[in-house]
Amino acid sequence: MLTPERTPRQRIIDLMTGTRLSSYQLAQMLGICERQVEEHLTHVVQTLARARTKKFILDPAFCHDCDFVFRDRRRLTSPSRCPHCRSESIAAPRYGIDSVGSGTSRVDSNASR
Ligand SMILES: [Zn+2]
Repeated sequence: MLTPERTPRQRIIDLMTGTRLSSYQLAQMLGICERQVEEHLTHVVQTLARARTKKFILDPAFCHDCDFVFRDRRRLTSPSRCPHCRSESIAAPRYGIDSVGSGTSRVDSNASR
């Protein structure tokens, strides 16, 4: 059973573990707006930077039209337009958390359901 006290940040970490989600998907799952998700993610990144067992993964955004990848992008928000071909058909960046070391590669036995 999950404690009702779980913070959005902990829930984000739970949701992202072992998978990749866009901020839009996280927003839908948590019932908050994307901007809030991005704010939480910034802190999640900082938290995980110190963690030994988990690693934050960022699949960068890319352009559907010319396959330009936004590799250098540091911010977590998704870009609105491709600097290469000006297309607005941008695939949003996706975030995930992988467990590192300690043998177990999957953390799904403790899932909420
Ligand atoms: Zn492009």
